[in-house]
Amino acid sequence: MVDMTQTCTQCGKKFLIVDQEQEFLKKKKLPFPTVCPSDRQAKRLEHRGERALYKSTCQECGASVIVSYDPAKAESKILCKKCYLDYFEKHDVIHP
Ligand SMILES: [Zn+2]
Ligand SMILES: [Zn+2]
Repeated sequence: MVDMTQTCTQCGKKFLIVDQEQEFLKKKKLPFPTVCPSDRQAKRLEHRGERALYKSTCQECGASVIVSYDPAKAESKILCKKCYLDYFEKHDVIHP
C-alpha cells in the first residue's frame, strides 16, 4: 500500500494517511479519517469539555471580549468585564 492523501472535511487541507495507518484501520475495520489530525485533536479537546472561545464585542462600549459561548446563540447581552460590573452596580441585581 502507499500513503494516501485525504482532504479534510473540516478545513479543506490535505493530510496524509500513511501506509501503516491504513493497514491498522483496515485490520480494525475502521473507516479512514476524513478530518486532518489537528482538527481531530481540536475535537478531542472539545469532547473533554474544554470550551471553545469566541471573539465578540461588548454591546455597551464596543470593546473586544472573549467569551466561552457562541455569541450567535447568546441569550443575554455580551458585555466586557467593566460593563458587566457596571451593570451589576447600577441594577443591583444581587440585592434588589
Ligand atoms: Zn482540517
Ligand atoms: Zn464594555
